[in-house]
This record gives sequence, structure tokens and C-alpha cells, in this order.
Amino acid sequence: KDGVYLEIQTTLYDKNDHLIFVRDVTRLHLLEQMRKDFVANASHELKTPLTVIKGYLETLDMFKDSLPKSMQKGIVNMSEQSERMEQLIEDLLLLSRLESDDKREENQWHRVSDFVQSVTNATEAILNDKHTLIVNIPVEARLYGSYKELYSVFSNLIVNAIKYSPDGGDITIKWESSEFNGVFSVKDSGLGIDPRYIPRLTERFFRVDKGRGSKTGGTGLGLAIVKHVLLHHDAKLQIRSEPGQGSTFSCHFPASRTRTDNIPAITSHS
Ligand code: ADP
Repeated sequence: KDGVYLEIQTTLYDKNDHLIFVRDVTRLHLLEQMRKDFVANASHELKTPLTVIKGYLETLDMFKDSLPKSMQKGIVNMSEQSERMEQLIEDLLLLSRLESDDKREENQWHRVSDFVQSVTNATEAILNDKHTLIVNIPVEARLYGSYKELYSVFSNLIVNAIKYSPDGGDITIKWESSEFNGVFSVKDSGLGIDPRYIPRLTERFFRVDKGRGSKTGGTGLGLAIVKHVLLHHDAKLQIRSEPGQGSTFSCHFPASRTRTDNIPAITSHS
């Protein structure tokens, strides 16, 4: 009664004949659904205890000055780790929402430069004097989609460019459009990525350098979120990189989701 899921593949056998393979993937589909439900429920359940812990930590923080130095350090540590855990839970919940297709935010037209402005304001704290941000986004460039989801794409790519160029250098953020598409790209001159890891970067929790991951913060879910959001926006992620030279992450949006004038559009997109 819950339906059967079949995977069908056809291949040309010889000149006139085709082979059709039919595979029953119902069980696989159910297992995958169970995994998604488990992650969504566990993340949701973790939110309440974490809110309580954070509340007590804030109270402790107010009386910090009257505590011994070693305890003060402990409070700072716990606060940092609980922030990290909160980010992890938020990212897991966002991924679950993206996978489940429900509770999606309404699509609208947004200025690409607004996203970049908000992200760069928010990243001031992690930028250091060694980085130069070069932003080349026409003010008229607009993109059709969910603000929150697209913000997480731009934020993840820009924050990664900063995090993974520890020696600084130029970070170029660009928007280029043609009659076929609109391309948002972030180019850094940082660590770069070994080509054999590039196909794995959008896997959940995949990190090229596990040790560095915990030092740079981040959840290991950023690029998985980027991939899913782009899928929902009919867009594709392209990664080009050379170890030691830097990386370029580009999002290719179809022309139907981009425009370069100031007229608020009425669109047939769902
Ligand atoms: P994280 O929270 O670890 O940054 P992401 O999913 O955003 O997780 O990225 C996955 C991994 O891809 C990172 O841990 C890092 O190894 C690699 N990576 C992402 N962006 C860059 C970049 N601009 N330069 C070099 N490596 C990168």
C-alpha cells in the first residue's frame, strides 16, 4: 500500500533489440527514508537540551569574574563548543528540510549583490588584513529563489574561501551572465584541493584535512548544503582547483532564474 519503487534502465542490445533492466529498490528507498527521518528527529530533539545548556552558560558567564581563571577558560571553551553544536544542528536541520521537499520558503527575486553584502558584513570578524575581497557583481543582477537557501550557498562559499586561504591573498567574488545562464563564482588563492578529493567534497562531513577542520570551525556540511540548494534552484556547482594555487567554486544558474534589469518580475516558476 505504500507503493513500490522501481529503477528502470534500458540499453541497446544489438541493432534492433533493447535490454530493459528493472530493479525493485523499494527496500533501499525505505531505508533511505528512515535515515532521513532519524537525522531530522535527532537534530530536532537535540535543540531543547542545548538551549538549556546555553542558558546556564550565559548565567555562568555573567559571574565569570568571581571565578578562578581555570574555570573562566572552561566557560569560554564550553560556550564556543555549544555555538558549534548549534551550528551543526542548524545545518543538519537545513539539509533535512532540503531533502524532504516540504516547508520550503517561497521563491522570489533577489539582488545578487544584497547576498554578498550581507555575507561580507557577517564575515568581517574572520577576515584578516591579509585577505583582499574583490567584489564584481552588477547591482542589477537578480536571482530567483529562496533567500535563506541562496544565502547559505553564498555564505558557505565565501567563508570557505577565507578559511582555506590561511596565508591571505585575493578572494574574487563575481557574477557573469549570458543569454544562457548566470554564474556566481568565488575564487581564492589558498590551499587548493587535490583533484582526487574534488568529487567527494559535497558529501556530508567530508573534509580533506580532518585535523584542520576542527581548527577552522565549520561543520563539514557546508558544501553538502550548497549542492542540495543548487539542485532545488536548477543550478550546478563547478569546482576547479590546484593544490597550493587556490580554488574556484562556481554556481551555474539557468537563464530562467536570472535577470539583469530593475523590473520586479512576475514569473511562472513554482
Ligand atoms: P567545512 O565545514 O569543513 O568547511 P565544507 O562542506 O564547507 O565543510 O567543505 C568540505 C571540505 O572541502 C573542507 O573541509 C575543505 O577540506 C574543502 N574545501 C572547501 N572549500 C575549500 C576551499 N575554498 N579551498 C580548499 N579546500 C576547500
